[in-house]
Amino acid sequence: MLDLTGKNALVTGIANNRSIAWGIAQQLHKAGANIGITYLPDEKGRAEKKVAELVEPLQPSLFVPCNVQDEAQVESTFATVKEKWGKLDILIHCLAFANKDDLTGSFVNTSRAGFTTALDISAYSLVRLSAAAKPLMTEGGSILTLTYLGGVRVIPNYNVMGIAKAALEMNVRYLAADLGPDNIRVNAISAGPIRTLASSAVGGILDMIHHVEQVAPLRRTVTQIEVGNAATFLCSDLASGVTGQVLYVDAGYEIMGMTETKS
Ligand code: NAD
Repeated sequence: MLDLTGKNALVTGIANNRSIAWGIAQQLHKAGANIGITYLPDEKGRAEKKVAELVEPLQPSLFVPCNVQDEAQVESTFATVKEKWGKLDILIHCLAFANKDDLTGSFVNTSRAGFTTALDISAYSLVRLSAAAKPLMTEGGSILTLTYLGGVRVIPNYNVMGIAKAALEMNVRYLAADLGPDNIRVNAISAGPIRTLASSAVGGILDMIHHVEQVAPLRRTVTQIEVGNAATFLCSDLASGVTGQVLYVDAGYEIMGMTETKS
């Protein structure tokens, strides 16, 4: 039975109703999990208001700002989890960032600063959040992150984010090995292309989606809810034997070799 009743799930990465994290949060909630939300704060407090309104139907018992580059915010997020929940069962890491300039054109021109930013936010943050989550996962736990095929194959314009996803996927394996003895599982979902705020920054995202719609075995791309369903499975006891894995939720696109489209 897929039942997350009694499980505390902290979900990062909701920016709006297109966010993959929103699809995941809805499905975790549907399965009975107690939901906590973190959001990326901005100076005018717009993100806080927008995300708070969106997640209201899930009645989150925790709602905190957490910029993963801000050590104080990371610490206070997990201090709040400890204070309000006592234990953490599920951590959803569903965030990434690279400068728009680095997501188009020639990869060789990636700047040192752009490379560092992309890797810090999109890959290192999984290690940092996992370290903070570990002492709170006293009854074992499940950590899940989101990756993309551009981390294992060259996808036009994905550029530095592909390097970040390669690092992220290797983080998953090292973290799974490290945290396994504490019964903490670490996995990734490699989602097919979906139109979101983050993906809109990647040059030619609509072309990528159209390409997938033509050649993927299911002849379409996936929805946030489908990713949320797979995430719920991976975070549940049904996946108790699964760790260190990358699960493709991409309508089958990853298996295809001859991917020429009809003109
Ligand atoms: P999104 O824009 O809705 O989500 C990205 C999130 O990252 C936002 O909520 C943003 O606030 C957050 N973020 C950025 N910098 C941050 C920081 N410093 N601290 C905390 N949060 C920060 O876009 P999305 O497509 O839902 O992206 C979620 C994840 O899914 C990302 O890891 C992305 O790479 C991955 N992914 C997306 C697709 C796609 O096609 N959309 C495909 C595969 C994987």
